[in-house]
Amino acid sequence: MSDSTISGADVVRWIQVYASTIAENRDYLTQLDSAIGDGDHGTNMNRGMSAVIEKLDGATGDDVGGLLKTVGMTLVSKVGGAGGPLYGTLFMQMGAATTGKSDLAMGDWAKAVDAGLKGVQARGKAEPGDKTMIDALTPAAEALSKAAAAAASLSDALRSAAQAAEEGMKATIPLVARKGRASYLGERSAGHQDPGATSSFLLMKTAADTFADAGRPRADRKNE
Ligand code: ADP
Ligand code: MG
Repeated sequence: MSDSTISGADVVRWIQVYASTIAENRDYLTQLDSAIGDGDHGTNMNRGMSAVIEKLDGATGDDVGGLLKTVGMTLVSKVGGAGGPLYGTLFMQMGAATTGKSDLAMGDWAKAVDAGLKGVQARGKAEPGDKTMIDALTPAAEALSKAAAAAASLSDALRSAAQAAEEGMKATIPLVARKGRASYLGERSAGHQDPGATSSFLLMKTAADTFADAGRPRADRKNE
């Protein structure tokens, strides 16, 4: 295994880290959703990711595509509202893009994130600037494609994607929502950070944090 690929075991680790990050940020995400939605984004995501962790218990991760599809299907079945089906679609499309692969090179990861983003857009019909999770995922996917084209290192690519997602998340603050519940508020939605863009930034951040160590011997990894 080279030090520039993401294995199935790495993907399982990422999902576990994302689930615990969502648990830690549950109240924060719910607070963001209370300002411009119905105050359930943190509890929705936490319920979904807890179910995912139970489902993945014992998963070996030999087929990354299969793993990601399981994550997506679990989210769709366990989480209602807009967020569940949208995150479910994100993971299912990432899974469809990686079917049969046991190791992802950076270009595979870039394609998977792009496929996930396109799935969310096809389902939710949001454009960049509508104040949704798309505003964090779009710049992240673009940063990954750029990094793949420039043959950057995997860890640099993941880091730039996380940074782009963070900027996209922060850029939702002044926006007026045009999709989802927040759009019911019209102009009053401006001045608040979008909860879904925040959970999507956390998704890209945890990928950077976990996959930066991908492929290195476990003993060399920082967070274990
Ligand atoms: P609900 O809005 O049903 O309560 P959540 O609170 O779990 O669902 O998720 C809200 C988030 O979903 C929003 O912050 C936004 O980022 C995202 N969202 C809502 N509608 C759309 C859409 N049509 N396209 C993309 N993302 C959307
Ligand atoms: Mg909500």
